[in-house]
Amino acid sequence: MCDLLLGDELVIDIDNGSEGHPRREEQKIQVIGIDDSGPTPSVLCYVPAYSCIKRTFKINKKHALFFNLPQKFLGEEGMFITSDDIVLSVKHAPEGELCDNCGTFIQYAKRGEGPVVCRLCLQNPYR
Ligand SMILES: [Zn+2]
Repeated sequence: MCDLLLGDELVIDIDNGSEGHPRREEQKIQVIGIDDSGPTPSVLCYVPAYSCIKRTFKINKKHALFFNLPQKFLGEEGMFITSDDIVLSVKHAPEGELCDNCGTFIQYAKRGEGPVVCRLCLQNPYR
């Protein structure tokens, strides 16, 4: 299960039925936190609000601190995937970073010591 990377988009086959009435569903979720320190890795995923997956929870400060999550995930729906969930497909996130100034995705950018800034923002810091 743990060749998963942060940002990966998963299509999983999960049981979203009620007790005694299992119902398999395909759902799209995104890996936002991975903890490899225990005997079984725990993988925290962001679940879009429209998914209506029953076992989701609100992502709180503890999750954010433990998994070092960006602020934007606080209060969003999350879930842990387990070995009972069947991962149908994995789409690795493209390599790159978001511009610190305007949020544009910059392919192949890597975060080092300084800020990550896109070419347009470098030319015009006031945009
Ligand atoms: Zn920019």
